[in-house]
Amino acid sequence: MTEELQNDLNEQNKYIGILTSGGDASGMNAAIRAVTRAAIFNGFKVKGIYRGYEGLITDEVKELTTEDVSSIIQRGGTILKTARSEAFTTPEGRKKAYETMQKENIDTLIVIGGDGSLTGARIFAEEYNVPCIGLPGTIDNDLYGTDFTIGYDTALNTIVECVDKIRDTATSHDRIFFVEVMGRDAGFLAQNSAIATGAEAAIIPEDRTDADQLETFIGRGFRKTKNSSIVIVTESPKDQNGGAMYYAERVKKEYPQYDVRVSILGHLQRGGAPSANDRILASRLGEAAIQALMEDQRNVMIGVRNNEIVYVPFAQAIKNDKPIDKSLIRVLNELSI
Ligand code: ATP
Repeated sequence: MTEELQNDLNEQNKYIGILTSGGDASGMNAAIRAVTRAAIFNGFKVKGIYRGYEGLITDEVKELTTEDVSSIIQRGGTILKTARSEAFTTPEGRKKAYETMQKENIDTLIVIGGDGSLTGARIFAEEYNVPCIGLPGTIDNDLYGTDFTIGYDTALNTIVECVDKIRDTATSHDRIFFVEVMGRDAGFLAQNSAIATGAEAAIIPEDRTDADQLETFIGRGFRKTKNSSIVIVTESPKDQNGGAMYYAERVKKEYPQYDVRVSILGHLQRGGAPSANDRILASRLGEAAIQALMEDQRNVMIGVRNNEIVYVPFAQAIKNDKPIDKSLIRVLNELSI
C-alpha cells in the first residue's frame, strides 16, 4: 500500500467502504464480517454501504464495528442488503457515488458481487481513481479466475437436497422430471448437481452449440434401463429457447406416452445458511481483501485457485468466460446409464 493511502486510511476519519451488489448469495455475510474484522484488526475503519451501488449514490452508509458483524457468519442473504442500480450505469450516477465517498471519507471500496458488480467497480475505479477490490459473490460460479464463488456451494447443496426429494416422486410415478436451476449463462450448478444427484442428464448453456442435448439424452435410450428420469436444466434467458418448460414441451409432443413434469426451483436456491465451505471461502477471501489493500493491490478480484488465494485483475475476471470442465459432461454420461 502506498504510504499516502496507508496514512489516509489510518487517519481517524478515513474509511474502507464495503457493499454487496447484484443477486444475493449465501456467504456474503461471512465476507462482510471477514472484511470488517480484518480491517479493524489491521488498524482501519470500515463503513457499510447499504443496497449496493444504489446506497452509494443515495448515501445510505453506516460505520461497521466488530459487534455489528457478530453472529452473522451463519446467516444467508446480506445484512447490507443488495440491489441492482440502473443509476450507477450512468456517468451522472457514478458522479453522485463518488461525491458520497468524499462526503463519507471513504477512500477505498470493497465490492462483493458478480460479473456486473465487478464491471461497475472497474469502470468506477478508472473514472475516479478509487482503489477497488472485488470479492466474487454469486451462486452461479461464473467468474473467471477463481475456482469457486461465494454462495455457489450452498446453492449446489440446496439443489441436491431438492432433487433428492423430487427423485422420490419421480420414481414412484415413473415420471420424467425436468428440474430448472439458476446459472444464467453458466452450467456449473446444473452439471454438478446432476452428478451429485445421479440425474440422467444435464442441459447446460456451455454445450448448447455443440449438440441438441435433448436429442443426445433421448438418443442414449433414456428409457432402456430406467422408468424414471431426472434432467437438470439451466434456466434460459426469456428471449431464447431453453429452460425446463421448453424441453418438457418438446418431450411431451414427441413422446406423448411419457409422464413429464417440470419443477422450477427458483429463488429458494439463493437462501439459507451458508455451507461450511462457503463460510470458509468468504472468510478467506474477505481477509485477503484487506491483505491485498495493504500490499497496494487495486482493481483486482480476490479469488481462490487450487486452494490458494490469487489476485485477478478486474479486466481478466470480467472479460473471460469461465469454462466448464468438459470431463464433467463425460462423468455424468458414463455414470447415468
Ligand atoms: P449476479 O451474478 O448475482 O446477477 P451481478 O453482480 O452480475 O450479480 P448485475 O445485476 O449484473 O449483477 O450487476 C449488479 C449491478 O452492478 C448493476 O445493477 C449495476 O449497478 C452495476 N453494473 C453492472 N454493469 C455495469 C456497467 N457496465 N457499468 C456500471 N455499473 C454496472
